[in-house]
Amino acid sequence: MHLDHLRYRRYVDAFVDGELDGALRSRVSSHIAECPMCDREAEMTVHIKDSLARGTGFAARAADSLRRWFGTEGI
Ligand SMILES: [Zn+2]
Repeated sequence: MHLDHLRYRRYVDAFVDGELDGALRSRVSSHIAECPMCDREAEMTVHIKDSLARGTGFAARAADSLRRWFGTEGI
C-alpha cells in the first residue's frame, strides 16, 4: 500500500482534474478508494479548486499552505 501510495499520490491532482485516461485513471481511482491519505488529498483538492474557482483570497492562501504541507509529508 505504501509503495502504491508513493507511486500514485502525484496523480491525485490530475485525477481530480479529469486529466488521466484509461488504465492509469482506473488504477489511481482504486488506489484513492483504499488509501485514506489520497482520499483526503483528493477531497481537499476538489474543495480547494472549487473555492479557487470562486476566486476567494482565503482559499488561495489555504491552497498555498496545503501545498507546503503536502510537500513535506511522506517520502
Ligand atoms: Zn495514497
